[in-house]
Order: sequence, then C-alpha cells, then structure tokens
Amino acid sequence: MLRTSIRAAKNIFFPALCFCCETKLSTSQYICDKCRNQIKFLLPPICKLCSTPIKNNKTNLCKNCLNSYYPYNKVICATLYTSTMQKLIHLFKYKHCDYLIKLFSSILTTYLSNIAFTAEDYDFITAVPMHPAKLKERGYNQSALLAHALANYFKKPLKNGIIYETKLRDSQTKLKKEERIKNTTAMFWAKENLTAKKIIVVDDMFTTGSTAQSCCQALKEKGAARITVITLSKAQ
Ligand SMILES: [Zn+2]
Ligand SMILES: [Zn+2]
Repeated sequence: MLRTSIRAAKNIFFPALCFCCETKLSTSQYICDKCRNQIKFLLPPICKLCSTPIKNNKTNLCKNCLNSYYPYNKVICATLYTSTMQKLIHLFKYKHCDYLIKLFSSILTTYLSNIAFTAEDYDFITAVPMHPAKLKERGYNQSALLAHALANYFKKPLKNGIIYETKLRDSQTKLKKEERIKNTTAMFWAKENLTAKKIIVVDDMFTTGSTAQSCCQALKEKGAARITVITLSKAQ
C-alpha cells in the first residue's frame, strides 16, 4: 500500500515506470505499449442490451437478456476485464491513483467514438453514487470522476447528487454473485422528479449488473424515460 502510494506520487512528477508491469517508460505515459495492447475493447458481436460477447444471432441478445426486464435500456462497457484493466482499476479504486482518470477517460471516449455513440438525446450524465461514509474514507468516487470526464467530452450537464446510496454496502469484490444481488436490493433512491428524463449513468465496472439495476430502478421510480449505463470495463 505504502509502496504503491509512494510510487504513485513519484510517477506524477517523474513518470518512469509502467503502472502494470513496472517496465521503464521512455515517454510520460502511465503504461507501456505491451500493457496498453492488453486493453481489449468490447467489439461486436455483443449483446445489444448488456454488451456480453455473443455468437452472431438474429436477436443480438445474450441468453440472459432474452427474457429479462431491466430498469435500464442498455449497458455499454468499453473493455474486457483483462489482467491489465483489473490492475489499473484496482489502483484507481483502492490505491488513491485517481489521476489514472486521464487514461480511463481516453479509453472510454475512444471506445464511444468508435461505436459512434452520441449523447445528443440525453438530458444529463450522472454517476453511481458512493455512500458518504465510504466517500469520506476514499476521498473520491471513481465513478463520479468518469462521469465528469464524459460530461466534459459530450458537453452535457453533469448531475451528481440526485441518487443516494442509502445503506453502506459490504465490499462487492468479497461477495458471491447471489450475495451481491441481495446486497444491492433497494440500496439507492433518487431525490427528485425525473419524468421523461433521458439519463446516462456511469460506473467503473459492470459485474453482475445488480448495482446498475438497483440504481436505475431508483431513477425509474422517479419517472426516468430512458437510461443508458456506461462502464469502463465488464467482468466476464
Ligand atoms: Zn507495462
Ligand atoms: Zn445480454
């Protein structure tokens, strides 16, 4: 922890080592070319609702989405959760490497422009919130940083502070799938009327989808008309 933090601090001023493999860098980047090549964008064919890679089929839906209802209309995930992304996201969330936002926003916006996604039809961008106690401990909400970067990129209003996390969740990474789903049930509420609003919700990861579902359900209950979830990475 301390070692990573010291290295992180040094890297701000003297970018020298790759964050993933600690190879020496010749330019002031965060990661080396080898690790950069390990970042895999989610390319078609993917499920049109949840971005899971699928074999080409008529419906363009994965098995899970064929007969499911979701409170969101679509999930867009930029990358597969390869070991590089795993390492970088871990540093971003748990090791105070919030300045990795520059790298992540370039990954996200490159992907969104490649798939020709535009935010024109949306009213605003928001992030999956973080419980105040956790925010106090971590000092920043990584999803809010991503939402801020996307709002700048699309020149759309950023509206954080409309969704609240009501109960402090256990760390999602330590829980099994069923426990995660139970853990996020009715964990969020939205504080204002959102009738007919079209919203982009940003999160760092899409794992089981339970957090996104619970969060978007809260927006739906206040009248949201269309919700697209955008995440940096998707666990396989
Ligand atoms: Zn590297
Ligand atoms: Zn799907």
